Amino acid sequence: MNNRIYLSLAHMGGQEQKFIQKAFDTNWVVPLGPNVDEFEGKLENFLGKNKHIVALSSGTAAIHLGLLQLGVGYGDEVICQSFTFAASANPIAYLGAKPVFVDSEQDTWNMSPEFLELAINERVKATGKKPKAIIPVHLYGMPAKMSEILDIAVKYEIPVLEDAAEALGSEYKGQKCGAFGEFACFSFNGNKIITTSGGGALGCSAKQQARKTIFYATQAREDAPHYQHSEIGYNYRMSNICAGIGCGQMEVLPDRIAQRRKNNQVYKQCLSEIEGITFQTEPNSDFRSNYWLTSIIVNPEKTNGITREDLRLTLESANIESRPLWKPMHLQPVFAERPFYGDRTSEKLFENGLCLPSGSSLTENDLERVAEIIISQLRNK
Ligand SMILES: *Cc1c(COP(=O)(O)O)cnc(C)c1O
Repeated sequence: MNNRIYLSLAHMGGQEQKFIQKAFDTNWVVPLGPNVDEFEGKLENFLGKNKHIVALSSGTAAIHLGLLQLGVGYGDEVICQSFTFAASANPIAYLGAKPVFVDSEQDTWNMSPEFLELAINERVKATGKKPKAIIPVHLYGMPAKMSEILDIAVKYEIPVLEDAAEALGSEYKGQKCGAFGEFACFSFNGNKIITTSGGGALGCSAKQQARKTIFYATQAREDAPHYQHSEIGYNYRMSNICAGIGCGQMEVLPDRIAQRRKNNQVYKQCLSEIEGITFQTEPNSDFRSNYWLTSIIVNPEKTNGITREDLRLTLESANIESRPLWKPMHLQPVFAERPFYGDRTSEKLFENGLCLPSGSSLTENDLERVAEIIISQLRNK
């Protein structure tokens, strides 16, 4: 049996343990310290545009603290892209607020600006109140249509929290994803483009927001020799050990982006002649995806009935991991009662879409092995 090929694995650069060793040597084995500061600084430099970064225990925690500071509370509504991982929407519920889901558009698979505007107007009609925030997602690294989304956000004066968990290093109109919203979340979970084993960060537009984020992430402890609290806080700060991994990973981030983009290119070349397979693709030169995961759509009408599930099972039997696209949140039992605005674009993508192995440590041989299995199944149809 061939070695297993995974969807997306952690990929160390080699310098990570140097930062961890230093933390041990100086006994900074705590959820703050020099590695945390350095990691935040490296992220700020990378993003440009004067963003203030706070390293946290997860991307989910980042969304939670971002929404909290946007004033989201009990009974409020928050607009969220439906086509995403549950972590985009769960923090809305942590705050006692309710998600309103908006469908995707065909070009990027991300939040449809048209349905976003419709959703805002319909919610105002239904509840008499504007939604408190908008959460667009850059899915699989593909930038959402941020100009259109921000125009609507400005028109209705609703703040944007960008979910850039999958999009570190992606760009839209020459600007890094995560630099557009009032807040932005990043994730360094084990499967993301770089990892801290588990971790995340909140990008803030103002220094004061970053200070407030640290405050909430450390139990809302006030500046007093005793432990003084006037607000509810959380234990969300990143460990100095995890941040050490992050510091090492930042040194290889450009390589990791280049490798993931290369994977995408190799798959596109290998599968270009194959009828019935299309790719999530940058619509034009405004969009630059980190191609965290290369994703395809299988059209059974053009493959003689072969579905994405057939392909997934064939790959699995060849010891290759692939995965259906995210199941939209409006189809999830836990959110079944929540309003949804769209034309089912995300449902169709979900039904026919497959994420291919996309890790930055995959070899050209690995990629060809994946492509050949897809080709042979579709050629023998
Ligand atoms: C990974 C991910 C998150 C959450 O990040 P964690 O660090 O795992 O909490 C949020 N949104 C999206 C779209 C993600 O892919």
